[in-house]
Amino acid sequence: MAKKKQFAILGLGRFGSSVAYTLTNMGYDVLAVDSNEERVEEVSKEVTHAVQANVTSEKNLQALGIRNFDVVIVAIGEDIQASIMATILVKDMGVEHVVVKSQDKMHGEVLKRIGADRVIFPEWDMGCRVAHNLATTNILDYIELSPEYSLAEVSVPTKMVGKTPQELDLRAKYGVTVLAIKRGNDINISPKANAQFHKSDVLIVVGKQGDINRLEELNS
Ligand code: ADP
Repeated sequence: MAKKKQFAILGLGRFGSSVAYTLTNMGYDVLAVDSNEERVEEVSKEVTHAVQANVTSEKNLQALGIRNFDVVIVAIGEDIQASIMATILVKDMGVEHVVVKSQDKMHGEVLKRIGADRVIFPEWDMGCRVAHNLATTNILDYIELSPEYSLAEVSVPTKMVGKTPQELDLRAKYGVTVLAIKRGNDINISPKANAQFHKSDVLIVVGKQGDINRLEELNS
């Protein structure tokens, strides 16, 4: 089995602590570092190793064995000078993948120039995700066949994942017939009654508008 990735998080503000908790919950060993004693104490309840240290000191980073980590996340936003210094030191130590949280565009430019492998703008990135999410509905395409019936492409509702059209009794209970299942680049035309729905499948269904809308509402 491949060796589990080792992560170090430098700076435990809102962003850094969220990354640290999430990786820990995913089963990774995480080293979390902050110069603020209270932050370290708070995070140490949940994370494998939490240490109080100033990460702009080369000696401290060496003592923490930072160069042995696969990924280092520099999550210091407000103190731009400290963020830049920590990034330079970690990169100089030879860490392969250094991810840095940026405060603004100019900070991001500097970080890229000094060798950050990935620069993250949390507020901007989250804004983009939320916008896409708000604009996308469950119905991907909709063709009216008659005043009563339509053909629609619908993301598989979460509660149907792992089930088959037969188990769900789709035609009787939901009033729709599945004509095809799209899975990535594959398309299964006229799927069998025992074809199992997978997460991310797109169903091409035919039915009355009201029934198709009901299918869409299952996900909202
Ligand atoms: P956020 O916006 O994600 O909350 P902040 O910039 O407010 O991020 O928090 C950054 C964290 O980094 C703080 O907990 C602060 O104590 C810590 N920090 C700042 N400078 C250093 C440093 N030189 N060494 C270690 N930790 C630092």
